[in-house]
Amino acid sequence: MRTDAEYARQLDQQDELARFRDEFVVDDPELIYLDGNSLGRLPKRTQELLAEEVEHGWGRRLIRAWNEGWFEAPERVGGKIARLIGAKANEVIVADSTSVNMYKLAAAACAARPGRSKLVTDDLNFPSDKYILQGMEQHLPGGLHMQMVESPDGLTMPLERIEAALDEDTALLTLSHTAFKSGFTYDMVRLTEMAHRVGALVLWDLSHSAGALPVRLNEAGADLAVGCSYKYLNGGPGAPAFMYVHQELQPDLPNPVPGWFAQKDQFAMDDEFEPVEGMRRYLTGTPPTLSLLAIEPGIDLLLEAGIERLRAKSVAQTDYLIELWQQELEPLGFQLKSPYEAEQRGSHVALGHEHGLAIDLALIRDVNVLPDFRPPDIIRLGVAPIYTTFAELHEAVARLKQVVQEGIYEQYLGEVPTVT
Ligand SMILES: *Cc1c(COP(=O)(O)O)cnc(C)c1O
Repeated sequence: MRTDAEYARQLDQQDELARFRDEFVVDDPELIYLDGNSLGRLPKRTQELLAEEVEHGWGRRLIRAWNEGWFEAPERVGGKIARLIGAKANEVIVADSTSVNMYKLAAAACAARPGRSKLVTDDLNFPSDKYILQGMEQHLPGGLHMQMVESPDGLTMPLERIEAALDEDTALLTLSHTAFKSGFTYDMVRLTEMAHRVGALVLWDLSHSAGALPVRLNEAGADLAVGCSYKYLNGGPGAPAFMYVHQELQPDLPNPVPGWFAQKDQFAMDDEFEPVEGMRRYLTGTPPTLSLLAIEPGIDLLLEAGIERLRAKSVAQTDYLIELWQQELEPLGFQLKSPYEAEQRGSHVALGHEHGLAIDLALIRDVNVLPDFRPPDIIRLGVAPIYTTFAELHEAVARLKQVVQEGIYEQYLGEVPTVT
């Protein structure tokens, strides 16, 4: 396969999604940003919308703005996210952080499976998800205990291993749909079936899938899901997350942190809690409204681009990157730490190198490339198909080569930064 710079430019010219890059703030054209899977770029429309909401909404309309679009924003934005993840509009709502939503839905699932005490997850899952499950073991009644299925290589998971952990005592199976380190993606249909066979519920963390690949929650019969809005959804730092609860489960699945935003007649200020119908029952307190509103333009852009087209471009781009790795980087000691097969892969490519951290620092400080680093040795190259170009991928690999061949990384050997 051709990988040269001219070929990358041709691919960009043929790209039917190319115009979307102009919808984002790109202040430094020399910067190669490959960390859209940690913090997506700022859409220009979001910049305008926030300025308007601050000046007009908060500044002039004040408390009246709650009746002019703020109050319904959690379900309005949730309804748009639903279209990206294969759910119905009345099954998704925006609230809190992914971690908190994870607790809410995992605890609710355990309550809906009384007498069962096992929570199954895997060691590929995101740390926060593991910590939340550990907290549930310690603080919730019922002798809950977690089983963390081990991956043979830290990168992928044979499905039989998950299957072997599921039994009649399992209340919940919870996994990251796409693993944050390797980008390994689970077959949602098969895993959901496995869990249902033993009567367990399934909770998917979609943080590294939403906005990057089509998720088919309804088609898979998935029970529950959570996910992040500041990665591929481009919602902004700390933007609130989303929750999905299958329509049929909603009446029987109580919110374990019911606050006044989940109350049936919220402004009657009654003493007794009675849940409102639909997804609002999973709200707790007042949403961070400016951050919540800021999510919407990014999602509109993804919907305009079309999730199937975004996935096709993402696969073409990660394939291209893997081809470049094989030709240019493998000889320099880089290992591929993502699945080779596109069906098993999300939208980032993980490369291992014994000097991974020092190389990552050199990329950031010396050659204007922003990837990220995950221990022990992984450099993650995130492809956000809505704004990443093929030319950038080509240039990023050229700069990676330069960092290694010229020994630029050597000055950072031994350094330990706070945020990677
Ligand atoms: C990014 C990410 C999170 C983030 O959780 P927050 O509560 O928003 O900090 C959670 N789970 C996964 C799988 C992630 O990738």
